[in-house]
Amino acid sequence: MATKQQELHPSVVKFLSNSPKKMLINGEFVSAKSGKTFDTVNPATGDVIVKVCEADKEDIDLAVKAARKAFEGEWKKVTPYQREMLLNKLADLIEKNAEELAQLETLDNGKPISESKAVDVPASVQHFRYYAGWATKIHGETLPVSVGNFHAYTLREPVGVVGQIIPWNFPLLMATWKIAVAVACGNCVVLKPAEQTPLTALRLGELVMEAGFPPGVINICPGFGETAGAALSSHMDVDKVAFTGEYITGRKIVQASVGNLKRVSLELGGKSPNIVFTDGDMEGALRGCMGSVFFNQGQVCCAGTRLFIEKKIYEDFVSKLTDKVKKIRVGMGLDPNTQMGPLVSDDQLKRVTGYLEAGKKEGAKPTCGGDRVKEGDLSKGYFVQPTVFADVNNNMKIAREEIFGPVVSAIPFKDVEDVVFQGNDTTYGLAAGIWTNDLKKAHKVAKAIKAGTVWVNCYNCFDPCVPFGGFKQSGYGREGGLHALELYTQPKSVWVSLD
Ligand code: ADP
Repeated sequence: MATKQQELHPSVVKFLSNSPKKMLINGEFVSAKSGKTFDTVNPATGDVIVKVCEADKEDIDLAVKAARKAFEGEWKKVTPYQREMLLNKLADLIEKNAEELAQLETLDNGKPISESKAVDVPASVQHFRYYAGWATKIHGETLPVSVGNFHAYTLREPVGVVGQIIPWNFPLLMATWKIAVAVACGNCVVLKPAEQTPLTALRLGELVMEAGFPPGVINICPGFGETAGAALSSHMDVDKVAFTGEYITGRKIVQASVGNLKRVSLELGGKSPNIVFTDGDMEGALRGCMGSVFFNQGQVCCAGTRLFIEKKIYEDFVSKLTDKVKKIRVGMGLDPNTQMGPLVSDDQLKRVTGYLEAGKKEGAKPTCGGDRVKEGDLSKGYFVQPTVFADVNNNMKIAREEIFGPVVSAIPFKDVEDVVFQGNDTTYGLAAGIWTNDLKKAHKVAKAIKAGTVWVNCYNCFDPCVPFGGFKQSGYGREGGLHALELYTQPKSVWVSLD
């Protein structure tokens, strides 16, 4: 397993030597009731990293029962201040084990170690601390009713047992985005990590127990979507399900939720427009475009994959972008010099190369890349060349469907009206970028674009206090900030007669 790039941390070696990895239910690490396991694979080499116990319906049911028991019992006795302390303790433990978690993330997902270290792990720490702070600040209000002599007030109560289903692109960070707010609000959770990347969530589970959370408050059950995921989203004793993933899966989650009308929040895909006007800072826009598409191998729901460039500068911008993209250092994630690692899985490689072929067939021209990496050591892993497609129009398949890989489609536009029309001509509405130094234009376009987040002269900026989520088929509900508290609490109105 050790690569020539970087020696594995002793605690990573220890964690992996303990196989198969068990799931966390009711405060204990247990095997699947069926005894089944599955392999988690290193996408840089195609080798199995370790076996993982596979949760199915029965295990999910046990986890939901444990969460319910905790919610109705032990967890109710824990004060908001104690919840804050527990979440802060967990953040401290993540920070203490940062190196190990970063390596595990890179091994399992493939992303460059520099990104795991600089983004995934510290952002998780920050997110837990942010929501730790909210635990003591969630409260109802008194209401000035006019219909009689009453004392009316609201209590803000947790929703109950929450099922959380996450994808593989930011395994630790997505687990954090889901768990932190839910627990801060007083809920109990059953988290199902993606089958491709269960390791950091399981390590997080160990840290959850070390931090001192009561049994059953946080349960972590890796398994497949059609089995464990479906069992969780259709479970009659789950009060809410939170999902991040593909829109097609999102639709299945909604259908599965109807049995008990559980609350649902969805953060789905995107086909985000990134708009470059002639009057912007070109160097900044180029850097921003690079980050918006090639960060995390392009496996980012808000990636700026439709790059709209004003006609006057189209050729020049595409040529400069191509020069930069050609210089991206593709390599093993554990190599500290790597800027882009492999895609997460063989399936994902097939999907992305399928889109590369579709783009070429429809007449788009790759100015660089356009294929998987076929030579040398990297040919064994799921590596794809960073690709710029020129001569794309907004009706092509590569401009309409989410590729989820390091592929950008450069589309020319005439003026504000044209780019607002084209930018909004998509079923998605997750994010957008605008590059201009014209203040009026920036605000005008930001207002006109139908997306949950708009970045002006920047891209992919995140902070726990800023809500994130979609318009249209990019989903509903917001993660982050005050808005996420709404998803995990419900108001109770209390009327007290004073007569
Ligand atoms: P991707 O195709 O990129 O893996 P998915 O939306 O399929 O994206 O996966 C995101 C998460 O949804 C994963 O944890 C996966 O196991 C889960 N999932 C997939 N199918 C279902 C389903 N039918 N019901 C519930 N969860 C599912």
